[in-house]
Amino acid sequence: MSASRRYEILLPLRFNDGQPVPEEFLGEVLEGLEHAFQAVSWETQIIRGIWQKAGRSYRDELIRIFVDLPDVPENREFFLRFRERMKVKFGQLDNLADELLNRHFVSGTQRILVVAEHDSGQLKLATLSAVAFAAKVIAEIGGAYEILVLGEGVASLAQLLSHYAASAVLIADQAQLKNPLADKYAHIIAQVVKQREATLIVAAASTFSKDILPRSAALLDAGMLSDVIEARPDGDDFIFKRVMFAGNVIATVKLAGAVKFLTVRPAAFAHPAKASASSPMVSIPVEVEKLPALSEWAGREAKASGRPDSTEARVVVSGGRAIRNAEDFERLIGGLADALGGAIGSSRALVDAGITSNSLQVGQTGKIVAPDLYIAVGISGAIQHLAGIKDAKIIVAINKDPEAPIFEVADFGLTGDAYQIVPELMEKLRK
Ligand SMILES: Cc1cc2nc3c(=O)[nH]c(=O)nc-3n(C[C@H](O)[C@H](O)[C@H](O)COP(=O)(O)OP(=O)(O)OC[C@H]3O[C@@H](n4cnc5c(N)ncnc54)[C@H](O)[C@@H]3O)c2cc1C
Repeated sequence: MSASRRYEILLPLRFNDGQPVPEEFLGEVLEGLEHAFQAVSWETQIIRGIWQKAGRSYRDELIRIFVDLPDVPENREFFLRFRERMKVKFGQLDNLADELLNRHFVSGTQRILVVAEHDSGQLKLATLSAVAFAAKVIAEIGGAYEILVLGEGVASLAQLLSHYAASAVLIADQAQLKNPLADKYAHIIAQVVKQREATLIVAAASTFSKDILPRSAALLDAGMLSDVIEARPDGDDFIFKRVMFAGNVIATVKLAGAVKFLTVRPAAFAHPAKASASSPMVSIPVEVEKLPALSEWAGREAKASGRPDSTEARVVVSGGRAIRNAEDFERLIGGLADALGGAIGSSRALVDAGITSNSLQVGQTGKIVAPDLYIAVGISGAIQHLAGIKDAKIIVAINKDPEAPIFEVADFGLTGDAYQIVPELMEKLRK
């Protein structure tokens, strides 16, 4: 007996004007599937949401029908044809219905939840790599993906994310979620996973997701993989590739359980193009009294800097032990970065010496960067540092030791004293 495949159909029950969808339309859906129903099980649910379109809030009821069909090519083809017919039919009635159908009348069972990362409402661009991952998986095997935004005052961020072809943007907007406290965020994510029946929960690999996703996975007793660079469908499951041991091993793994949490390497998934159509917005109610209060936000110390974040910048200039103090770091590394419109980074040697802050560290225990151009100034090229720059497109090394290991990975090398070379470079760039 062939395995069965679960298809999902979501249909609106009401249109913009509040009028119910005529019974004959729903009847046609059921009739159209009738031949399949003989051999399969199916169930229906009514789900409710508040959708937003053209600035109007719209309370909508959808009927969700799950159909289990034998997984044979004829059924898959039938379902695709049927879906197209229904889209045309409903599209005649109402634009919103058409939009909902386009997004929701989907086959396949994967429901991906992308957790968006932001800094006080500013999108962390790596989130778009997680969206690209979701879009790729869905294009291959069917299903739908939704994007979850947590925070306070995140409406415009949600608006921005609504242009990336998600079936919905879910918004948990609450004062208590203003700062990314892992206990609270993990709680909400777990709640949304259950409500939306998500099967894959994805975020970009970052300090934020390292803190939050494993907690959420633990709350649901689900497995988690980090640093995924590929997901290959394997029947109803996946075979993943992930980076291990500072990038020196690529492991091919399967993850047990129906619900899986992943972080993906941003450099492995190119950002998707922005679409003009927008996804419906769904507000996620937050029960404040049920939020865990294991941690409390004491404050945040961040230097106001006009420079981009090293994980998002096209150019990163990093300094190593060759740089003797904080003033020199700012003058040489900061100066060169500014001349190139880039971000700054540092080796651990400088962090340990108290010259740079921990947030600048690039490497195995720091940030993973993937710029077009990485300039390593006075950095020897220890394996733990290289682990953070493997995805850089072009590496330039400036080092006084011609034998320094960094030259083995550098595309271009300058042998000499950083204190001499960097000011010369800045001078030339200014001209
Ligand atoms: C578990 C673990 C995790 C780690 N994680 C990280 C990590 O995330 N990131 C990280 O960076 N390190 C990490 N390290 C540390 C790592 O092993 C190295 O010690 C560190 O990267 C060395 O930093 P560096 O290259 O700046 O210093 P050094 O290795 O001391 O190299 C300094 C370089 O500067 C050159 N130099 C000196 N003076 C000049 C000059 N005037 N002009 C030009 N060149 C000059 C020297 O020739 C030398 O090559 C980790 C180590 C461990 C054990």
